[in-house]
Amino acid sequence: MNNADLEARNRNLLAELDATVREAFDLVLVQMENAGHRIRAQEAYRTPARQRELFLAGLTKRVTGGLHTRRLALDVVDDAHPDNPSPQFMADLAVVAFRQGLTTGLLWGLPRSLAKERRDCIVFGRATQLAALIQFKRGWDASHIEATP
Ligand SMILES: [Zn+2]
Repeated sequence: MNNADLEARNRNLLAELDATVREAFDLVLVQMENAGHRIRAQEAYRTPARQRELFLAGLTKRVTGGLHTRRLALDVVDDAHPDNPSPQFMADLAVVAFRQGLTTGLLWGLPRSLAKERRDCIVFGRATQLAALIQFKRGWDASHIEATP
């Protein structure tokens, strides 16, 4: 995707988010770009019908009420590696999102013992160490960002 298309896509999807959280998500995209990543917004708002469709397809664990249906979540893609985001991309995303008061699904589903060390890396901004850890084990939705209401 060229830069103009990427920028337009990111603007359009940010506009779907709730106005109270839009700036935080916008800053995540800006800071990821500043860190040298090509970040692409993939999906923001979902209708309840689409959420149900994804649930039935096994692509989400939430049948209703996901934060996408409330305009409080954004899925992103590493545009340089759309099918296989680099560990550094996912680690930087988790750290940058945390600094904006947002959360990614990087730790979702991990046993508590594994989550603890990774969470400390996020909180203390140790993205390089985090990238090394998540090469081996990470949660199931690293490219999902949400604003916890
Ligand atoms: Zn999502």
